[in-house]
Amino acid sequence: MKLRTGDTVFVRSGNNKGKTGKILKVVNKSNKVFVEGLGLYKRAMKQNGVVDIQKGIKVNILSLVCPKCNKNVRVRYSFNDSGFKVRICSKCKSII
Ligand SMILES: [Zn+2]
Repeated sequence: MKLRTGDTVFVRSGNNKGKTGKILKVVNKSNKVFVEGLGLYKRAMKQNGVVDIQKGIKVNILSLVCPKCNKNVRVRYSFNDSGFKVRICSKCKSII
């Protein structure tokens, strides 16, 4: 999973194509993330009436928005001076 909670992502296809949002929750098991304001549906429940539910979005239709260069980028991995694995922006090469 290349995405983390708090990342800003861009939706490349599907109902929310072209939108961006912040990741609220990452579900590694199903490769889905919950994005702020996206994937919201209304569902009629017998007991509670109409409630808002949120569905996770598949990570394969998302791309990360780099906080440094503000572009939709691919994530590369590298190691920093201390030997930790870090994520690198493929465009501006900064650590994200
Ligand atoms: Zn960048």
